Amino acid sequence: MDNKDIAGLLYPDVNIDIEDIFKRYPKRKLKEGAVVTRFAPSPTGFMHIGNFFQAFISYNLAKNTDGVLFLRIEDTDEKRKIKEAKAVIYEVLERFGIKFDEYQTLDGKDVGEYGPYVQSQREMIYKAFAKKLVSEGKAFPCFCKKTEGKEDVLKQRETKFNEDDEKEYDPCRDLSYDEVKAHIDRGDSFAIRLKTKNTGTERIKFYDLIKGELEAKANAKDFVIVKSDGIPPYAFAHAIDDTLMGTTVAVRGEEYISSTPAHLELFEALGFEPIKYCHNPLICKIGENGNRRKISKRYDPEADMRYYFVNGYPTDSVLEYLLNMINSGFEIWRKNNPDKPWTEFKFGINDITAVAPIFDMVKLNDISKNVIVKMSGEELYKNWLNYAKEFDGELAQILEKDEQKYIRLCQMDRDGAAKPRKDIYNYSMMKEYFDYIFSAPKDYELAQEDKEKAKEFIAEYLKAFKMPNSNEEWFNDVKALAGTLGYATDNKLYKQNPDAYKGNVAKACEFIRVAITGHKNSPTLFTIMSILGEDEVKERLKNAF
Ligand code: GLU
Repeated sequence: MDNKDIAGLLYPDVNIDIEDIFKRYPKRKLKEGAVVTRFAPSPTGFMHIGNFFQAFISYNLAKNTDGVLFLRIEDTDEKRKIKEAKAVIYEVLERFGIKFDEYQTLDGKDVGEYGPYVQSQREMIYKAFAKKLVSEGKAFPCFCKKTEGKEDVLKQRETKFNEDDEKEYDPCRDLSYDEVKAHIDRGDSFAIRLKTKNTGTERIKFYDLIKGELEAKANAKDFVIVKSDGIPPYAFAHAIDDTLMGTTVAVRGEEYISSTPAHLELFEALGFEPIKYCHNPLICKIGENGNRRKISKRYDPEADMRYYFVNGYPTDSVLEYLLNMINSGFEIWRKNNPDKPWTEFKFGINDITAVAPIFDMVKLNDISKNVIVKMSGEELYKNWLNYAKEFDGELAQILEKDEQKYIRLCQMDRDGAAKPRKDIYNYSMMKEYFDYIFSAPKDYELAQEDKEKAKEFIAEYLKAFKMPNSNEEWFNDVKALAGTLGYATDNKLYKQNPDAYKGNVAKACEFIRVAITGHKNSPTLFTIMSILGEDEVKERLKNAF
């Protein structure tokens, strides 16, 4: 009795011919240099920024080489809540405009010739390859039960194979046909393990497209390739899928480097050409203690890709920031090409950073300010309204009711301005940032010692108040009044002798600004006043402080 018979005992119903499988997945016809790559998320109900980072790198590699990008859902481990969890992946990808050439729709229709693009629908293929490996003596069934406890298994292992502990040969690796048959007849469940050909002393070299040549200890462990529930773990499934689906470059996180020797042994056992891996560095943060740490779902809300749309970041802001992380040359390119869409920035595998990028909110916000500043007032209004419709219904109603007013607000210091104001970095901040437009201020950013002076000045300003017709007119009126009330109209004179004055004109302007908006800083006050209208402005001046 040989291995083939053992394989037959394990998989009596698996009769797919490997040749036929390969016929179903013909070699892709590709242009020279075209990259076939994939995004292979597991549906965890969450899209980590690190995963999205891979999707975005893969998307660009395929796009920049006229290649192919496909989506493969790796759901063999995630049996629970699968539908909702999948929906999260699709939603994030769609919102960020990551388009795939091949994928399965959420309702289960494959688009592309290399499907099914969902691993749980590929079990027969994995079984066929597992059967092949067992019949070739490269894998074997393991009947050790989890419930037996690891210690028992290890003890068994020690008595059977105690030459050295550099390897982890499984106690079941040499079961005879009769032993296997006895287990099967008893109805025992089994996992399949790879029979490693290594002894624990070998080292291997492999090439990573980002990090170059790497060397590591070769795998010497009989690791599981099909679990006892019939499901293959990542290592086995991806080796088969990436081969059949014609992946030329697999972008995946750096955390997989340590298992790459095992993966490469699997490719060899399966008789596959090894695929090219591109292990991207993980996005980090500087922790409170000043040390680098991986950005984590647990501590960092921004690790969840939903954070960005819930907080109203334009997708381009996030994508530009990620490009910045992928290749620092993007920043210079952006400076030299301020008006081009980011899609024109092309990078290849060699341009991907090998150093872990540090996530920095300030930087993201800066980039986002630059993205938003390019929007016209009307565009900004529309985006803000769309955001509000989804996340703040009450605000959406307000914005829709007085469209012209809010368009003017969004245009302020923006449309036609020589130096548009770079102040807004997401749509969620706008409600608070423009709080004075929705209601009169309740708090005033005014120093205690200025209070009396401010009251007195505003009272006088109100007495002679007329609605200005231009910014200059407004300023000149304030300046004239300030002069008569003992404020310096010449800043040089004021600086020479500050005690001779109540303050300077800037101070007087500040009083009015704070009275109307509550804030010391705001976009052009004249514009705010004209949006609010005369009655409202007067009312606010009357009630100020
Ligand atoms: N499902 C794996 C993950 O989400 C995929 C890794 C890969 O891209 O090969 O980490």
